[in-house]
Amino acid sequence: MAFDLAADLAARHEQHRYRHPLIQDGPCGRYAVVDGRQYLNFCSNDYLGLANDPAVITAFQEAAADWGVGSGASHLVCGHQRPHQQLEEALADHVGRERALLFSNGYMANMGVMTALLGKGDAVFHDRLNHASLLDGGLLSGARFRRFSHNDSSALRGQLQRSDARRKLVVTDGVFSMDGDVAPLADYATACEDNDAWLMVDDAHGLGVLDAQGRGSVFAQGVNKRVPVLMGTLGKGLGTAGAFVAGSHALIETLIQFARTYIYTTAMPAAVAAATLVSLSKAREEQWRREKLAALIQHFRLGAEQLGFSLMDSTTPIQPLLIGADQQALALSQQLREQGFLVIAIRPPTVPEGQARLRVTLSAAHEENDVDALLVALARCQRKDV
Ligand SMILES: *Cc1c(COP(=O)(O)O)cnc(C)c1O
Repeated sequence: MAFDLAADLAARHEQHRYRHPLIQDGPCGRYAVVDGRQYLNFCSNDYLGLANDPAVITAFQEAAADWGVGSGASHLVCGHQRPHQQLEEALADHVGRERALLFSNGYMANMGVMTALLGKGDAVFHDRLNHASLLDGGLLSGARFRRFSHNDSSALRGQLQRSDARRKLVVTDGVFSMDGDVAPLADYATACEDNDAWLMVDDAHGLGVLDAQGRGSVFAQGVNKRVPVLMGTLGKGLGTAGAFVAGSHALIETLIQFARTYIYTTAMPAAVAAATLVSLSKAREEQWRREKLAALIQHFRLGAEQLGFSLMDSTTPIQPLLIGADQQALALSQQLREQGFLVIAIRPPTVPEGQARLRVTLSAAHEENDVDALLVALARCQRKDV
């Protein structure tokens, strides 16, 4: 049968890869409430603890009163309200670019940029572990598709040298979402400059978190001037929703004319933009959030290492524990759940085969004793006395 959905679903079950959303009965923060029970939440991307921040909530509420809820149209029709404009200007200023352009989310931003910049006759070069939205954007663009091994700038250089494409776009996550490590951006920038290619960085997990002012990976690595296309999301470190692309005036005008995921979709609610203006300034100015986070990261790594877990090469709030087999990762996640901790097991196809992991994420919303409690629970799982 052509549409034997039940068979495909059953196969997914058998692989231990069946997924379903948990219903959260409260806001995102230090805790999560699921099925009437409260858990310490170690799986959100709300790294700075801004998703449920009182000042951000107030900005959202006040803007909803002033601007309504729906924007009513796409940006180019009549949906581009003053808070959208203010946020685009604030984001451009924050990341030191001429212009920035809002998208409804990061997935659409990546699809939009890559299809606007690339077509047949062009080539896109991906790190193997790039986010799904980057891979999909590359496929949709019709450009030739090359993947290089993770964080391997000499492999990239070789591919660039062999390419005779008209335009060459190298794309990478700034911080890898499932590993927490960072891309070698200076080496990529040099390889691009030597081979007439452009570098695009998706900094979904770096923005707000890395650099003393939260300007992200390209500032932390001192390469901002060498990355023509910078994409950032608002739903992770900044705690709201949406995304942007920042770059030159010509880049942004190109996106406005040609990025279909910008043109043919309703503008985000102005209240989201207004709330983001506040969360952006808090992310920039409240350095204590990054300092607290850094201390929690160090504390967790030390403790997990002492327990003998396989940490990954990460200095960011993404601190996965590599487990291997899907079933084992799931069991560990379940044992933690029973002890009051929400930590999600990440399985293929999100990560490579045999590399299932517990994706622990830390947030400035946590306290040091939360991390201690998680470590105690992990130790109990190891001793299998849960
Ligand atoms: C989350 C994420 C996206 C998608 O952003 P959304 O705004 O959630 O659609 C894109 N790239 C990376 C690396 C991400 O982690």
